[in-house]
Amino acid sequence: MSTPFDVIVIGAGPGGYVAAIRAAQLGLKVAVVEREHLGGICLNWGCIPTKAMLRSAEIFHLMHRAKDFGLKAEGIGYDLDAVVKRSRGIAKQLNSGVGHLLKKNKVTVVMGAATIPAEGKVSVTTGKGTQELTAKAIILATGARARELPGLEADGDLVWTYKHALLPPRMPKRLLVIGSGAIGIEFASFYNTLGAETVVVEVLDRILPVEDAEISALARKAFEGQGMTLMESAMVKKLDRGQGKVTAHIETGGKVEKMAFDTVISAVGIVGNTEGLGLEGLGVKIDRTHVVTDAYCRTEVEGLYAIGDLAGPPWLAHKASHEGVMVAEMIAGKQVHPVKPESIAGCTYCHPQVASVGMTEARAKETGRKIKVGRFPFMANGKAIALGESEGLVKVIFDQATGELLGAHMIGAEVTELIQGYVVGRQLETTEEDLMHTVFPHPTLSEMMHEAVLDAYGRAIHF
Ligand SMILES: Cc1cc2nc3c(=O)[nH]c(=O)nc-3n(C[C@H](O)[C@H](O)[C@H](O)COP(=O)(O)OP(=O)(O)OC[C@H]3O[C@@H](n4cnc5c(N)ncnc54)[C@H](O)[C@@H]3O)c2cc1C
Repeated sequence: MSTPFDVIVIGAGPGGYVAAIRAAQLGLKVAVVEREHLGGICLNWGCIPTKAMLRSAEIFHLMHRAKDFGLKAEGIGYDLDAVVKRSRGIAKQLNSGVGHLLKKNKVTVVMGAATIPAEGKVSVTTGKGTQELTAKAIILATGARARELPGLEADGDLVWTYKHALLPPRMPKRLLVIGSGAIGIEFASFYNTLGAETVVVEVLDRILPVEDAEISALARKAFEGQGMTLMESAMVKKLDRGQGKVTAHIETGGKVEKMAFDTVISAVGIVGNTEGLGLEGLGVKIDRTHVVTDAYCRTEVEGLYAIGDLAGPPWLAHKASHEGVMVAEMIAGKQVHPVKPESIAGCTYCHPQVASVGMTEARAKETGRKIKVGRFPFMANGKAIALGESEGLVKVIFDQATGELLGAHMIGAEVTELIQGYVVGRQLETTEEDLMHTVFPHPTLSEMMHEAVLDAYGRAIHF
């Protein structure tokens, strides 16, 4: 048995490694246990490798538009293996970066699968045997994996999860994507841009269902313009797998339609990695596949915390890492504030990009508030026109009585970068007045954020 740690973190994804580094910065003795890759899903199979691949698709798309910019590009093509190699290289680079950061902060890294045999104890199965560790506090950050629906399970050949889609055995010719959340839509956007005939099936009544309905509708229009087929209020009931071919039985409007594909990507959500940790024996509450915590990520067990994807939505890396910082600081005795899910922006890096924070217009109305809504289109913004990116919208929703910025929703070029301006505004409890008095640099896409606020109060200048 080694000397006790102050904190043991299980899982080195963005939640886990950030918690470990912050705890170490605060002078605690910290170990992190990881069974696969430092950086977790985010750096190895999620956020980063997808963005690397989407960047290749974006440049490919722009190359086809070379003439619009007075340029010549001939013989435009791609090498999928090289696109994937670049993405894997970037993931590897960041994975080593996490190793370096943990070392720099003197965090002990134990590579192996952890279980918790009793409160304060962690048993790690490593390549060399079992290592027993003890700590005053344990942070569970074991993340999540792809949800598999019966009959639609991935096989790595015809039916893929996100992992297969990041290491594709071939370029799909006719692709079915099941699920139109961020993960499904990003892969649909990538493969469609590279030329796969792409069909997206969404069980709810619109694609990107967590977004504002107006943004979903604009996304739909843009994707259809790029040749994608979108089937909303539709459900894949069955997949018949044959030699290099899958026949999907898709129910829509009470009828079942059969459609043939060579590849299916299943993106129907995720399930938390709760198994094999010994949580049941400890009395940790699990709701479906997620560990139940209070607003401070505390479980029912004294000294045991759960953060990130394991602890429920929103399933985003920045939520995981922010919770990691909060819990590390709380363990170190600092005063902390719970993470507010409604202040966490969601970004989808499809083409065009989608980003939002706070309430949708429908949700704001449901709360009974009187609201003011402002909009500003990309086609009226000088920088957007100069960039050749005049498709898109910025929309804001204010509480009429207080001027509180309730929500912001965007679609168009670089909106995943723009949204943070409104996130900061909400964090600082900004009102419409503060935003109107703020000077935005010209020419920038950010001017649309100003104009949308002005529009909510009938004062937009350029539209
Ligand atoms: C394709 C895809 C794209 C995504 N894109 C984005 C994006 O653009 N932006 C965004 O914010 N989010 C994105 N996400 C979500 C993001 O990856 C997750 O929200 C984030 O990784 C969650 O972090 P985490 O620390 O909770 O867990 P994870 O990153 O899942 O890390 C958990 C770690 O725990 C380890 N582990 C599990 N069990 C054990 C055990 N018993 N012992 C030891 N180690 C264990 C795992 O090996 C893993 O490394 C994406 C996800 C996917 C799949």
